[in-house]
Amino acid sequence: MVTSFNPEPNFLQRMADGTVKQVNPFTGTEVWTIPGRSHRPLGVAPHAPAPLSAGQATSWCAFCPDRYLETPPEKARVVRRPDGAWETLSRTTVEQLSETVAEFRRIPNLFEILSYDYWHANYGFELPEHIAGRKAAYLSSDAGRTHVLAVVANKLRAAGRTDAEIEAMPVDERLRYASGFFGGGHDLVVARRHFVDGATDDSQLASSGTLSVDEHRQFISFTVSAVKSLFNVNRYARYAAVFQNWLKPAGASFDHLHKQLVAIDERGVQNELALQRLRANPNIFNELAVNFASYQNLVIAENDHAIAFAGFGHRYPTIEIWSKSEHSDVWEHEPEEIAGMSDLIHAMHAATGVDVPSNEEWHYRPVDTDLAMPWRVLLKWRISTLAGFEGATKVYLNTMDPYAIRDRVVPRLFALRDEGRIAHLRIATEAECRPNPLRYNTGTR
Ligand SMILES: [Zn+2]
Repeated sequence: MVTSFNPEPNFLQRMADGTVKQVNPFTGTEVWTIPGRSHRPLGVAPHAPAPLSAGQATSWCAFCPDRYLETPPEKARVVRRPDGAWETLSRTTVEQLSETVAEFRRIPNLFEILSYDYWHANYGFELPEHIAGRKAAYLSSDAGRTHVLAVVANKLRAAGRTDAEIEAMPVDERLRYASGFFGGGHDLVVARRHFVDGATDDSQLASSGTLSVDEHRQFISFTVSAVKSLFNVNRYARYAAVFQNWLKPAGASFDHLHKQLVAIDERGVQNELALQRLRANPNIFNELAVNFASYQNLVIAENDHAIAFAGFGHRYPTIEIWSKSEHSDVWEHEPEEIAGMSDLIHAMHAATGVDVPSNEEWHYRPVDTDLAMPWRVLLKWRISTLAGFEGATKVYLNTMDPYAIRDRVVPRLFALRDEGRIAHLRIATEAECRPNPLRYNTGTR
């Protein structure tokens, strides 16, 4: 609200005809929602479902549990013991791959956005000693070596090499490609299921929202530990982008649930823009994001450790989930704080629905930044396509305004909570919505 004491622009205004104009407080992205364009269905049209046998459900794609050997050597996995306890196993050997069922696995991406060679050529990056040792150990086993050579051959084939050309390459040259499998900066965190348990046809995909509350907590905390690991391995990384593309319209190559982590040598444009504003006002993430959303009645749900609201100023309809923790670094969060974030992220996925293509994007403080900054996760519904109008004006048309997002999600959350499918949350008007709920800057306040 613009008042004489509040010179900030109004990030959200409804015009007389019902058009809602939004500006993102951190990026300046301008978005309009025009009335009458928001009634289209959100989900992708279901294809005619084909029946699914039990064997197919566990071998559908290269991320499926029957096909562990098609992906590069696993860095770690989360397993569930018979007594129900969760355990993380690191540096899985090829012999161990089939000894347990991985609920979640961390594996290198076969097709890295930034390869090992990028870091090696530009920074002189070499595998740290413990990683080089792990590579040597993996290759010292016949089965490990065979596994690595097979995956390298797949990668080379995808790059257009013929089998004859690959055979003709000296083994040492082929194994050189394997450095990226052990010390690369692009990891995947892959969930066990492609389809929900007991699925009878190929439309019954397992998504973030179909995991149990407990499983989703493991998914998030395992991903948090993967972020920490990337920084431990590569001291030249300044940021690790963490995201989840769900379904093909959102950029997923497989419709098997997975997250991606990509270490980069910059902070990213989004962070640089936010940092400029943060330096001028350390409380900006409370004032311009959560407080503002709260005053506009856009808060969707809250628990002791996180708060979610319908976002404004995004190209796609977006739900924002913010950590209240005083810690800026995700890996410094207490286990209950990570669980609190997980519960809200999980609930938002469940309320969104498995048929809606989405991107889950994590934002947090780059490692070389001195300013405190909260961890927040954006869930974007990829239900519209950018077109010429956007290109010509840089004004984006979004089919749903934040109020419509809230009104779609809130009733679903009540229903999901009644069914016991999400953790207990304070939903909509149950939320306290106190000013300044984010504690990241308690030191400077
Ligand atoms: Zn799969």
